[in-house]
Parts: sequence; C-alpha cells; structure tokens
Amino acid sequence: MNKTGYFTHPDCRKHEMGPGHPESPERLSAIDDRLLICGVADALDRREATAAALADVELAHGRNYVATLRGLTATLREEISAGGPSHVQLDPDTSMNIHTWDAALHAAGAALAATDAVIAGELENAFCAVRPPGHHACRDQAMGFCFLNNVAIAAKYALERHGLKRVAIVDFDVHHGNGTENIVAGDERILMVSFYQHPFYPVGGAQSDAANLVNVPVPAYTRGMEVRELIEMYWLPRLEEHRPEMIFISAGFDAHREDDMGQMGLVEQDYAWITMRIKDMARRFAQGRIVSCLEGGYDLSALGRSVEAHLRVLADL
Ligand SMILES: [Zn+2]
Repeated sequence: MNKTGYFTHPDCRKHEMGPGHPESPERLSAIDDRLLICGVADALDRREATAAALADVELAHGRNYVATLRGLTATLREEISAGGPSHVQLDPDTSMNIHTWDAALHAAGAALAATDAVIAGELENAFCAVRPPGHHACRDQAMGFCFLNNVAIAAKYALERHGLKRVAIVDFDVHHGNGTENIVAGDERILMVSFYQHPFYPVGGAQSDAANLVNVPVPAYTRGMEVRELIEMYWLPRLEEHRPEMIFISAGFDAHREDDMGQMGLVEQDYAWITMRIKDMARRFAQGRIVSCLEGGYDLSALGRSVEAHLRVLADL
C-alpha cells in the first residue's frame, strides 16, 4: 500500500494568468511528466482533490475577502460575454480568469483532503500538486500569484477541526511567505520556520517579530551547504522545542540554481536533505504526518527534478 498521497485536480490547470506568465499550467504537467518517467508516480496514492468548504477557507481568510474573490468570477463572466477582457487584474502580476476561483478552492481542498487522510492514518504523508500557490495570500489580500493560503488554511483546519494542539509550517520557497506570516503571526499553536532570499520580493521581507516565527533571510547566491547549516542552527532546535503534531510544508522550488525567478543556489540534493530533516522531525513528534503543498518553482525541468527528489524522501524510495 502506498503511504504517500499525491493530491491534484484538473481545475488547477485551467487557471492561467495570460501568455508568458511564469506561474503557468505547464508547471503541473512538468511535475506529472517527471514523476511518470522516473517511476515515482507508481509509488504514490494519487487522489483527486475536492473543493474546500468556504467555512474552512474562512479559518484563514476574512469573510468579505472570500466573498469578493468569489464574486469576481461572476463579474468576469458577465464582462467576457459583453466582449470585455478575459482576466481581472488583482495586482501587477496576479490575475483571475473564469477558472481561478475553482482552481483556488481545489488547491485549498487538496491540502484539506490530504490533512484528513494523513490524520486518519490512511496515508503517512502527502504532496499536493496544486496551483494557484498560496504563501503570499494574506488574510484579506491576493498577491504574488496567490489567492488562498493553502498551507495556512490546512494548518488552522488541523487545529480547529481535528483538535491538534501544535503544528509547524516549514517554508523553503525562495520568496518570503508573507501571507502565511500575516495569517499565523502570534498564534502560538503554529510554529513557522522559513528561509528566503533577502532583499527580494515581497519588498520589506518579514513584517512581524512574533515569537512563533523563525525567519532566516539569506542573501542572493546563497548555496545549499550554507542553507543546511542555517537550518540546523535555527530551524531544528525550534522545531524540537515546539514538538509539532503535524508538519505542513510550503514547498516552493524556486531557490533552485537553475530557476531564474530567484538567485539562490540550491539543487535537488538540497531539497532531498531538507525533506529528510523535516521527515525526521515528523517521525519523532508527529507520527510521520506531513502535508506538503506546491508553492513556487518556475524552471520546468528543475521543478520536475526537485519535486521528484522531495517525493523520493517522503515516499522512502
Ligand atoms: Zn516563490
């Protein structure tokens, strides 16, 4: 029986933000193709995500914000039938088409279904191959290609709906997870650890010095060995101290050396090493429970290889 779940949904490929946009549907195809070619797909329990319930989305987002996003789809549909543009722009690099809302609900829904299955013991851990990504989405604001904060919603859901007492969020995307920080800062039940290129998008870096956040900004051109040392120095002691009952990963692969979106120097082996450290922690404190959600990663080849490395560790291959 395969103990690592792979959650995705066809709607996640229908969301697109215009020609040439790096956060493209091809990202999910690149991951799927790579996992098929290398054989890792055979070792995964592939499941189709359901849409998240609005009440669960609202564990991390304001009701008005959720209603506004939902309403924009209807507005867009009317405008398109009147000959208007096919996208509504929310910030300079974030826009919605008529499929975006359904894709966002299924991306969050994948994280929730994965959380249910892992807590029920059906799976030890799971990866959600979803888009739009989530970690820049704030409680009341879409930005940076993100609409709903999949990982923050799932972390809150594990606490509120499953009664867990402590969880952790690990964010290894090259960008700072400002949205997650906005949602979880000050919630002592959630420990968030991250590294990110700084100075970089989003401008300003960390906005909060809340005690439950371990932010490790690193300069451009930082390589994997340095990142590993920082993780051992800053992340692991705090994770040990927190004793999370479940670990969520904001799995962005844009710190890869070949990814032009950022200027960091990680390679596949670094993602495997980081995943191994997270897995050790999960096995010690959390019965192995990990739910990992795709965030960034824009060089299609490097993305496919990095997700393969991540999943080989999660699935013990
Ligand atoms: Zn990123």
